[in-house]
Amino acid sequence: MGREGKGSVGFIGIGTMGREMVINLLKAGHAVRAFDLNEAALTDIAKEDATRAANPADAAREADIVITMLPDTPHVEAVIYGEHGLLQLPPPGKLIVDMSTISPVAVRRIHADLGKANVSFIDAPVSGGPLGAKNAALSIMAGGEAEAFAKAEPFFRAMGTTIKHVGASGAGQTVKLCNQLVCGINIQAICEALALGRASGVDLNLLREVLMGGAAGSWMLDKLGPQMIEGHTGAGFRIDLMFKDLRLVQEHAQALNVPLPGTALVTSQYVDARAHGEGANGNQALFRVYDRMTNQTQANSRKIT
Ligand code: NAD
Repeated sequence: MGREGKGSVGFIGIGTMGREMVINLLKAGHAVRAFDLNEAALTDIAKEDATRAANPADAAREADIVITMLPDTPHVEAVIYGEHGLLQLPPPGKLIVDMSTISPVAVRRIHADLGKANVSFIDAPVSGGPLGAKNAALSIMAGGEAEAFAKAEPFFRAMGTTIKHVGASGAGQTVKLCNQLVCGINIQAICEALALGRASGVDLNLLREVLMGGAAGSWMLDKLGPQMIEGHTGAGFRIDLMFKDLRLVQEHAQALNVPLPGTALVTSQYVDARAHGEGANGNQALFRVYDRMTNQTQANSRKIT
């Protein structure tokens, strides 16, 4: 058990999202043993009162629940099946929750393998970005058995506000992939509107303000619109991670024979962005694909006088 009778959590993956989620678990009174391959991330989170672990099994050794927040499917598989992995040495609480965005097919395989060892596995990807993680305001969409979800829910409450059990194993990832295709196509639509407005000489800040007040308003336009207009190159939700998500969407859709022409088109623009060295930048960098296609930037754009 953690402090003040709260839970004990093993947390693996202390990156952009994981760091904030651990801090919120600690604030809620849970004890956290944290592991990451990156030493600097562990040194940083130890200052917040988490305990450093030497490997995944060490993070799990006293845990009611182990949470993973890793980049992609192979990273989660390494932590489950690899040396000092969670399949070999599961947590005493027999509950593992992966909150990364990974393949729903891989999720069902992991769920079956852990199930044979009498360990529950929930897929619970999130939406809301680093700000949602920091403010404990994530949307959490979970797949797996209802009983395991009920055990995980108090921990989810420390990290999110919209928390839904959306179905059997893999259903959380399917809902997240639907979320990502809407986000990707929405980002592309915003880029197109800004490119057209700019070429016409319209003030892009005014354009954004008007769109936000009407039916075209969206979370992406609100949060990424200003960064696109300013040509912001900082991180956030990285181009590389969205590209990974769109690849997962297409793999899943192809296996089910569902055509997704809009997703295919926007994915090709993420390929272009990555080829131009934008992979580590936030998704606002997609607008620079349109800079190149139109041979215009904010700096050289025509202004209405
Ligand atoms: P990140 O790259 O910042 O963090 C991942 C961390 O995992 C890193 O610290 C890395 O060192 C660590 N790691 C990698 N392999 C490991 C291993 N085998 N063992 C231990 N640690 C390992 O990524 P992030 O932005 O925090 O995203 C994590 C997941 O959440 C991804 O699946 C992403 O798609 C999803 N997500 C991210 C956002 C966002 O805005 N950043 C939003 C929603 C969902």
